Amino acid sequence: MRTPWRPFASYNLWLLFAPAVGQERWHCDMKRGFQKARQKEPSVKALLEQDTTWQRIGHLAQRGVCEFHKDTQLLHRLDGVERVAEILKLGQESAEVQERVIKILKNYHERPILLGKNIILLSRGDEGFPEPILIRYGNYLLNLYAAIDCIFREPDGTLHILDFKTGKTDFDRRQGFVYLLAAKYLYPQQPAVASFYNLESGKWSEPISATAAQLNAIQIELAIIAQQHQKDLRRYRQNPTEFSQIFPPNPGFNCQYCLFNSLCEFSVFPVTA
Ligand code: SF4
Repeated sequence: MRTPWRPFASYNLWLLFAPAVGQERWHCDMKRGFQKARQKEPSVKALLEQDTTWQRIGHLAQRGVCEFHKDTQLLHRLDGVERVAEILKLGQESAEVQERVIKILKNYHERPILLGKNIILLSRGDEGFPEPILIRYGNYLLNLYAAIDCIFREPDGTLHILDFKTGKTDFDRRQGFVYLLAAKYLYPQQPAVASFYNLESGKWSEPISATAAQLNAIQIELAIIAQQHQKDLRRYRQNPTEFSQIFPPNPGFNCQYCLFNSLCEFSVFPVTA
């Protein structure tokens, strides 16, 4: 059955509205406009369909962890890393992707943090959009999207939601809170914590927990974001020429790393034809 259309929220949308702590200078609202308002335009769609190097590394790293746990013998075999690299067809990737994913696989082979855990869910990372979770806030209904990488059960019964990271990005506690809100709906009455594990650096964050009041506050924040986003989308559809007023640009050094710099008239990063 088709999911009825509703306003939506996700950590990704929250991030597009408000940057993580320390990232304020790089924040650009126009990226939300490209990603969420103009995503069906062929030129934008083509960019969104491209996997960036870091996305590719993230997907392959997560799939690698999954393959190790599909056949845990691979974690005990001396050639386990090579076997998983073959399954992932790493040879077809760029040199940078190969090098970093091999390092990740070696790290995981040496320190398989999920081995022996009671795993409830372990995603491959390429499953596409997760099923939306219906959130009710007063009379307001919205769909919450939370793509959870892994859930395991701690010996005391607590659900542990684990998010895999790669690269150098800092952990954003807001993402953990969104997972905990999702867990409240998916596994009501069950205590839960969330944490982040960087597959490249081996850094594991402290577990994040939330009180009922904190989760309620997150829910309100997400509902406000979902409403504001729908308002912006409506404004844009009625006045497409006002794109840059509805989604103001913040050109600067950040344009260099922006997916949309080849289309953006405000980009200060020269793009070669
Ligand atoms: S190119 Fe620069 S101004 Fe344009 S959307 Fe990207 S970050 Fe914003």
